[in-house]
Amino acid sequence: CGIVGYVGDEPAGPIVHGGLENLDYRGYDSAGMALLGDDGLTITKREGEVSNLGVPAVAGATCGIGHTRWSTHGPPTDTNAHPHTGMSDDIAVVHNGIIENYAELRATLVADGHEFTSETDTEVVPHLLERELADGRDLRAALESAVAKLEGSYAIAAVCTGSDRIVATRHESPLVVGHGDGAAFLASDVTAFVEHTRDVTYLEDGDTVVLADGDATVYRDGEVVDRPIDTVEWDAA
Ligand code: GLU
Repeated sequence: CGIVGYVGDEPAGPIVHGGLENLDYRGYDSAGMALLGDDGLTITKREGEVSNLGVPAVAGATCGIGHTRWSTHGPPTDTNAHPHTGMSDDIAVVHNGIIENYAELRATLVADGHEFTSETDTEVVPHLLERELADGRDLRAALESAVAKLEGSYAIAAVCTGSDRIVATRHESPLVVGHGDGAAFLASDVTAFVEHTRDVTYLEDGDTVVLADGDATVYRDGEVVDRPIDTVEWDAA
């Protein structure tokens, strides 16, 4: 239902948690976040309200993603809440939308030895990503290659251990980037981060964005592409 992401030089936990609370109005049944800290990824996720999550204390985490879930595949449980990982805990993925062909993808992955822990359509994505990363692709190329196999609607954001970056893409599901001072934000809706920045870039279907080093770079068919930066009008009252 809602996606949030942050890369900058401030602690990511409170910013991602605050972003999820701002998306509250969209309705959801579960929430979770993945924070990339000194000791790798820490995933905290639960059925129920964002306030139940708390803000996990993760040393050195200045990069993170979060999700509010409105279940379509698999009941609202702690396990089905996002983020999802693959075979290892080195990848975390959040997803809005529906992956129509997840059953066949899952069957192929299971035949290849992948073990699934959730009942969601989403979980095929981290497993596909894992396979692409094992083939030597970087996270952006891995995501582009993975989503080429998907049918349906999606906004997807992924992080993996090893570098502070978020890679995201969309198809028939909204995703907007926020340009802060030494920070980059990602969300399904500007409401999530409007208290931090009003300078935004709306991604187009098929765009991929890399958030790293406080900046956001948009790619189209593997090439860097210019997208306009708009200033959101917002009445804080
Ligand atoms: N289809 C996914 C699920 O059921 C994502 C739902 C959403 O957009 O929150 O987990």
